[in-house]
Amino acid sequence: VRRKNLRVQDFVQGVLAQDRTVLGRAITLVESNVPAHMERAQRMLKELIPHTGNSVRVGITGVPGAGKSTFIEALGSLLCDRGHKVAVLAVDPSSSLTRGSILGDKTRMQNLSRNKNAFIRPSPSSGVLGGVTRKSRETMLICEAAGFDVILVETVGVGQSETEVRSMVDFFLLVLIAGAGDELQGMKKGIMELADAILINKADGDNKQRAEMARSEFERIIHYLLPATEGWTTQALTASSLTGDKIPDVWQTVEDFKANTMASGVFQRRRNAQTVRWVHSMVDDYLRTAFYGNPTVKAMIPGIESDVVEGNLSPTQAVQKLVQEYENHRKANS
Ligand code: GDP
Repeated sequence: VRRKNLRVQDFVQGVLAQDRTVLGRAITLVESNVPAHMERAQRMLKELIPHTGNSVRVGITGVPGAGKSTFIEALGSLLCDRGHKVAVLAVDPSSSLTRGSILGDKTRMQNLSRNKNAFIRPSPSSGVLGGVTRKSRETMLICEAAGFDVILVETVGVGQSETEVRSMVDFFLLVLIAGAGDELQGMKKGIMELADAILINKADGDNKQRAEMARSEFERIIHYLLPATEGWTTQALTASSLTGDKIPDVWQTVEDFKANTMASGVFQRRRNAQTVRWVHSMVDDYLRTAFYGNPTVKAMIPGIESDVVEGNLSPTQAVQKLVQEYENHRKANS
């Protein structure tokens, strides 16, 4: 199908008018790696930014199988019924490798994907985590400009992606199940210190009692951890995403969190700090790419590495040499 090319103004107006087709295409534009698209995407974002921010941003993590998709389906449907507009995004740096992996997959959120108040967008597939998160952040802003007041960002509880997602959301939820194996226990402490609430999912049937026991155990552990958010005690909850039992309580916790942190100013302060940090991390990415992509640096690296290993150069001297040659190359080519 041949589609009319949209101008930046068409994108801006379409998104603000909550036109879904334009919304989808606007996100495709920010996901593009084509320089001309990137330039248009940034002009569009500049116009949209004054219309962003009016939302609560919730990150959701947990190992595969914990029930994240099922939970998002249950919570998202509840919120749509209450009149919210819910955008579900995914940050899955592995998806380009594992091909259409698990996250934000429409087929796994059948009911929600049919709901007219919901919008589901799978993870952008780009090799590097920095690229995936930039795109997801910009997608989040576009969704806010399109009137979505709840943003759910799903990620897998492995690797670095949960730290990235933590840095783009207000509230972070860790979904666990009772009696999970040691691989789960291993990941816990670090991730628990990112979480504003821990949800023991699948608290239904025979599992209900075990889930309650796990909940009290976590409540005890939480006291030994650093809180993820100033002035807020991390909550331990149980729910069943399958039956919907206690899902409203999970949302109540998010509402309480929002009221608490807005009153204290922590909510806005964190958002401001996140924006500033985002700028710095993009500068970091840019400089690293420019440095390691520089032909002189590229050519020198293998020799420098063996010099360091063989003791002919100290690591500091190696860095000085690389940076010096990088600067010379840039001056000669500017
Ligand atoms: P994800 O990989 O974390 O997104 O997990 P899924 O949402 O795909 O859930 C994994 C499996 O657990 C599926 O078979 C779900 O039906 C099941 N499941 C999810 N939530 C619950 C729940 O609350 N109770 C029960 N009994 N099963 C659940």
